Amino acid sequence: VTSWHGRNITVAGLGVSGVSAARALAGLGASVTVVDGGDGEGHRARAAELRDAGIDVRLGDAEHLPEGTDLVVTSPGWKPDSPLFAAAAKAGVEVVGDVEIAWRLRGENAAPWLAVTGTNGKTTTTQMLASILRAAGLRTAAVGNIGTPIVDVVLDEGAYDVLAVELSSYQLHWAPSLRVHSAAVLNLAPDHLDWHGSMEAYAADKGRIYEGNTVACVYNAADAATEALVVEADVEEGCRAIGFTLGAPGPSMLGVVDGILVDRAFVENRQKNAQELAHVEDVNPPAPHNIANALAAAALARAFGVEPRAVRDGLRDFRPDAHRVAHVAEVAGIAYVDDSKATNTHAAEASLAAFEPVVWIAGGLAKGATFDELVRKSAKRLRAVVLIGADRALIAEALARHAPEVPVTDLDRTDTGAMSAAVREAARLAEPGDTVLLAPACASMDMFANYNKRGDAFADAVRELAEETA
Ligand code: ADP
Repeated sequence: VTSWHGRNITVAGLGVSGVSAARALAGLGASVTVVDGGDGEGHRARAAELRDAGIDVRLGDAEHLPEGTDLVVTSPGWKPDSPLFAAAAKAGVEVVGDVEIAWRLRGENAAPWLAVTGTNGKTTTTQMLASILRAAGLRTAAVGNIGTPIVDVVLDEGAYDVLAVELSSYQLHWAPSLRVHSAAVLNLAPDHLDWHGSMEAYAADKGRIYEGNTVACVYNAADAATEALVVEADVEEGCRAIGFTLGAPGPSMLGVVDGILVDRAFVENRQKNAQELAHVEDVNPPAPHNIANALAAAALARAFGVEPRAVRDGLRDFRPDAHRVAHVAEVAGIAYVDDSKATNTHAAEASLAAFEPVVWIAGGLAKGATFDELVRKSAKRLRAVVLIGADRALIAEALARHAPEVPVTDLDRTDTGAMSAAVREAARLAEPGDTVLLAPACASMDMFANYNKRGDAFADAVRELAEETA
């Protein structure tokens, strides 16, 4: 147990996680300074509140390490090459994130952590896991990259039996001593490479989630890169590698047989070869990538000793967050689906794989991505494509290369009204039985404040269309 009394801690970033870490550490007797480069109205208001709690705040300077700092606690968004961290390294001062702080703050009888990471599906899988744990009668919360700041949850000692923890690659990067009960890496595809510097560094940060696991390392049998991370990890003796697959499972795997999710890893009854868990239709929505998420959540729950029935009930109870392959409406026999959260090519590929024929609405900020693989793999499902957003030319070029026969409408627009035009154009191109899918494969910030607003604009446009058609 770490003593925090009299320590001089600098918290980088006045965001939600920074504020909660600052308060928690100050409450434990540490002397805390928060630094943030911003100096706007919102910053000043938050700074005033913290100062009232005896916390020092320095606005407008994110570069200099306050004198006497002996630990830096960073917020996820800060890049590893930020000048503040260079200053810390020079002074021999350790830098950690909010997850590491939560880990160090947890009490002796703390709830075990079941952790989830991956390029896509983290939030969904973590929430499915929490739903399953709840169905098993366990007191739990979905935390980490979502929900209540993890530091606050950990300090609420005795309130939880087990935690479902979503961890981003950033948080893992800054959590060197984390050692969880069991963890899953859902998939690995290029994303956030500007932050990590390279695919190798990104994968290594993701792989940290397996370090020191005590019961199970859950990997995606269809994604060799996730299995490689298990092989490289240093785990506790007796910790098992558990795979999940959309096909028939081998030993030590969960998978799907005749539309049933089955478990061959944690079979209690020795007479049986496999344990039935749930029907694929129990998964919301039952798209292939989401069944993979359900299997990963089930594997973690089963590693924690949860009964098959609770897996089924928890999956049935689960409702996905908005803008994640959400069915908006059916208009004139055409289904409209909002997957605005598909902000990278890997995610868009997964949602395109769930529909056919599909009129695809795509485009936005590419974040340095290439679209050739996505288009090559999805070409045969495409009825037509409607492009909007700043980097739409990159997608248009990939379509010209790999799907020259697919009609493409480039709306040549980046204004907010473009979404409504895109929906109308998609409706014109679609035929009854088709799906119109918003899966931009890009970030939203060229046209919208965030992916929520983008998805809302899509849904509004579809509703307008429905009213006119009715
Ligand atoms: P994250 O928290 O990792 O961003 P979410 O659960 O919020 O993931 O899902 C984000 C998007 O990623 C979804 O809208 C969907 O398009 C896609 N997605 C979800 N699960 C998977 C998966 N297992 N593989 C590929 N794409 C996925």
